[in-house]
Amino acid sequence: MNYEVVMGLEVHVELATESKLFCSCSAKFGADANENVCPACAGMPGMPAVTNKRAVELGIAAALVTNSKITEVMSFDKKNYFYPDLPTGYQITQLYAPICTNGSVEIETTAGKKIITLKQIHIEEDAGKLVHDHRTGTTLVDFNRTSVPLTEIVSNPDFRTADEVVAYLEKLRSLLSFAGVSDCKMQEGSMRCDVNISVREAGSSQLGTRTEIKNMNSLKAIVRAIEYESQRHIDALSTGSEVLVQETRRWDDNKGETFSMRGKENATDYRYFPNPELMPVRIDAAWIEAVRNELPESAADKFARMTGEMGLSEYDSRIITGSKNLSAIFDETLRFFNRPKDVVNWINGELLSIAGGDNKGSDDINIDCERFARLIGLVDSNTINRTIGKELLVKVLKDGIDPEAYIAEHQLGNITDTGFLEQLADEALAENEPSVKEYLEGNQKVIGFLVGQIMRKAEKKADPKAVNELVQKKLSALH
Ligand SMILES: [Zn+2]
Repeated sequence: MNYEVVMGLEVHVELATESKLFCSCSAKFGADANENVCPACAGMPGMPAVTNKRAVELGIAAALVTNSKITEVMSFDKKNYFYPDLPTGYQITQLYAPICTNGSVEIETTAGKKIITLKQIHIEEDAGKLVHDHRTGTTLVDFNRTSVPLTEIVSNPDFRTADEVVAYLEKLRSLLSFAGVSDCKMQEGSMRCDVNISVREAGSSQLGTRTEIKNMNSLKAIVRAIEYESQRHIDALSTGSEVLVQETRRWDDNKGETFSMRGKENATDYRYFPNPELMPVRIDAAWIEAVRNELPESAADKFARMTGEMGLSEYDSRIITGSKNLSAIFDETLRFFNRPKDVVNWINGELLSIAGGDNKGSDDINIDCERFARLIGLVDSNTINRTIGKELLVKVLKDGIDPEAYIAEHQLGNITDTGFLEQLADEALAENEPSVKEYLEGNQKVIGFLVGQIMRKAEKKADPKAVNELVQKKLSALH
């Protein structure tokens, strides 16, 4: 029998605000435990809550880049449940009037293009974090994340393959990070994903029993979890080995399997009701236009500009626009050295190779672009060669060195004394008579070897192109 997997996604994305959703505490990641807490976000009774205007604006931006219909008057609701990381005993979220509905996102996989439709996007507050201390058998709670603003992007069950899920998450990350809505760093938890999954006979219009896999924050884990869970459903349906129940499950990345967390709750379990302490927010056309006018360049527009007026290849442009951070490095470096092709070659070549060697992804690179630009200029003007340039780039990245000062101090500049270079070339030719003989017998390849010998003598401080020309000149004189 043929089976079809049907999936819907709920993606939580942290909004890139300075402060929390209803108080002025910092929303910054990585602070010491309970550093960013006040009586309001610690859930003390009677504390006033004021909606963060910037969070609503970022919500509007998310609506715009996903072609969603923005709600005229949005409001907040209380979702009640008890958990120790939720000090108020309820989460403030949007059920009755979310910020927007009916959006769509176009994705592309090897199977072609497809539109994923969105049910809604809503704004809500995050919960805190429990820290289990295994030495003492106690549990501590950190409220730094409590009330940090999130949006939840809820798709319809439009996904059929793990490939589509990955393409969608990458597209969302691109849309939202370029729009400045969120940095969408999965490893820091600022983008997390729940997958609703069910399996049915191919061709059937009825949905099978649905399970939800909660809180995944790596694409690799998501793909593995989907593969495991869909196979579990197929086995259950085809062999009757187990009875599927609607429930929430968690993915165990070490064991490579999902396990039951709790039975699926219904909306009634949460006793949702409108939050009487927060004013509804009217979003008028002027406000929407103001946000639209301030939207930064999208990845698609940037790609068009790079492949168009800048004349860069699709391959290079795709790498740069695949990451908001690389795009920012590209733009900033261009401000100081306006040669797009050179800058792109250095980013996609040397910079990514160095970062990759340190197990860093495109989003983790942090570089002083002004120094990076100067370094590219020094290679471009033949002050240093590219090999030395790459060595210096490592030092710019890790130690923040000043390129010119470092070159002067360590005498790394190319040898400009042509008499001295000629002398090194004569020496190399004299020491490698067999190679010279081979050349005279018609083997052009030995030129590379001889250039290498001279570069070694020059301690790499020469322009390989100039040395190559010099060797050619010397050899042809021997004819
Ligand atoms: Zn606070």
